[in-house]
Amino acid sequence: MDLHARTPLFPHMQYCTRCCVPETLEGVVFDEMGVCRACQSSEQKIHINWLEREKNLRAILDDAKAKAGNNYDCIVPISGGKDSTFQLHVLTKIYGMKPLCVTFSHNWWSESGWYNLQNSLEKFNVDHVAFTPNRALINRLAKRSIEGIGDTNWHDHAGVGAFPLQVAVKWKIPLLIWGEGDAESSGRSSYTEQLNTFDRDYFLKQSAKLSPTQMVGGDITDRDLYPFEVPSQEEIEAAGVWGIHLGDYIFWDDERQTEFLEETYGWRQTEMENTYKRYKSVEDVMSGMHDFTCYLKRGFGRATMQASLDVRNGLLTREEGFDLIRKHDPERPEALDYYLKITGSTEAKFYETMRAKRLPQMIGVDIPVNTKDHKNAERIMPFPEQLIEKFDRHE
Ligand SMILES: [Zn+2]
Repeated sequence: MDLHARTPLFPHMQYCTRCCVPETLEGVVFDEMGVCRACQSSEQKIHINWLEREKNLRAILDDAKAKAGNNYDCIVPISGGKDSTFQLHVLTKIYGMKPLCVTFSHNWWSESGWYNLQNSLEKFNVDHVAFTPNRALINRLAKRSIEGIGDTNWHDHAGVGAFPLQVAVKWKIPLLIWGEGDAESSGRSSYTEQLNTFDRDYFLKQSAKLSPTQMVGGDITDRDLYPFEVPSQEEIEAAGVWGIHLGDYIFWDDERQTEFLEETYGWRQTEMENTYKRYKSVEDVMSGMHDFTCYLKRGFGRATMQASLDVRNGLLTREEGFDLIRKHDPERPEALDYYLKITGSTEAKFYETMRAKRLPQMIGVDIPVNTKDHKNAERIMPFPEQLIEKFDRHE
């Protein structure tokens, strides 16, 4: 394949005329000039009165502090990733908040990701609650997830949506604070739309797609999925639970934040499968599968999303973006080997399942897959399993 074609991989589709986003991105809307909403948002972002927004943020945080009594001021869902580490910096160092940190553990930790999580707990000196589903269930869900939503990560999508809300309800901590806003790169909303809209089913709609009840079947029972249930609307209302995205209140800049966190707190980037950037989803060894399956269904993966953001921010030309996309989106990730191992599936069966998940625009289209030309810098195996293997070997 020509890696310097400087054009979209699937020319039969409509792509944003500014960035590299195709029509198969969920929720994408192009204006009459063919410009996607994320590109429009990035123009709005420059004109927003961020000082005013920051005042609103301060008011929200002051109010939460005033009402907290001896309880925590807020919940910060953390993975140890770039965004949640930055959230902790802003909330504890700038605003003096006392958060309860909450982690839904997908248990696909990379070694760097595990380090980043533990390091952030130490550096910010915060209290922490984590929930980890059992390994056999994670493996069964990975298989069911591909069949159900055409992506390996249902347990992660559903868990990060449900678990922090469960903790909010049970511990009576109403305010949840997430990181990047929806307007930044998803194209699903814009910076000028109303803030403070909270939706308990946000993660179900955005990423999990199927409710726990819809995942039941075969070797997965209602009882297995109890931890993935979002609290009821009544419970949410009774506890007054709601949430904000910091990125709606302060100017969000991935590159500068990453640099800052590396220098100040020793946060670590690492090589990522299926993209050229080294700082998103660092904690997840299976992120390559998440992105590769998106590519097989929709004709784009994470390199497309990151290149588009870089084009918007003036770091790449659109043509350079398309070159990077050609190199990374079609790459067969090493994580596919781990997926086949934990599910007992075969590669042929995997591709067959993915063929059935294609969007109409991709049916009958030749979707190139490239072999990786080198081994990933970090081992694609959950770090807890690596540790166990290491000590088992010495017995
Ligand atoms: Zn665009």
